[in-house]
Amino acid sequence: MHMFRTASLLFRLWKASKIANTVNPLTDKRRTHKGNMENKNHEHYMNIALGLARRAAAEGEVPVGAVIVHDGEVVATGYNRREQGADATAHAEIIAIRSACAALGRWRLEECDLYVTLEPCPMCAGAIVNARLEKVIFGAHDPKSGAMGSVVDLNALPLNHKPQVTAGVLGEESAELLREFFAKLRKKI
Ligand code: ZN
Repeated sequence: MHMFRTASLLFRLWKASKIANTVNPLTDKRRTHKGNMENKNHEHYMNIALGLARRAAAEGEVPVGAVIVHDGEVVATGYNRREQGADATAHAEIIAIRSACAALGRWRLEECDLYVTLEPCPMCAGAIVNARLEKVIFGAHDPKSGAMGSVVDLNALPLNHKPQVTAGVLGEESAELLREFFAKLRKKI
């Protein structure tokens, strides 16, 4: 009798430990690990976009940079060239989208992610929807013309495509670059 009770208790303890193992922090750990990896990836590509934004500033353009990633590879880049191109549509995102379409030989950019240092404007958000980009990751919010939540949210409209949006990746760095650029411009005037 005594032996049986001990065995049964041991069995119950073993069962409990098995259950504990399956629900335990292990799974949470994996989730956190995945989240960290995603953040790391986001920052990696956003740093490339920031480099492009710096190049724009060096060329006298408002510093905004963009990259398009497909299968972990940068397939297109762009930075604001509105002044040099004397072109109102030469925003970083439009240049990157055109370049990605040319590189991949298709206008549908499904399974592609766009990283841009500043929240897209209504024109670029429209181009993003038309290109069917899967994800948009942006840095700083644009309270003056942001179309992904700041002034309007294009994703809130009943359009045929909704990209997943992540905001604020290296947002402070992106905003600082813009602040610096406009501060210098004001000194020149
Ligand atoms: Zn734009």
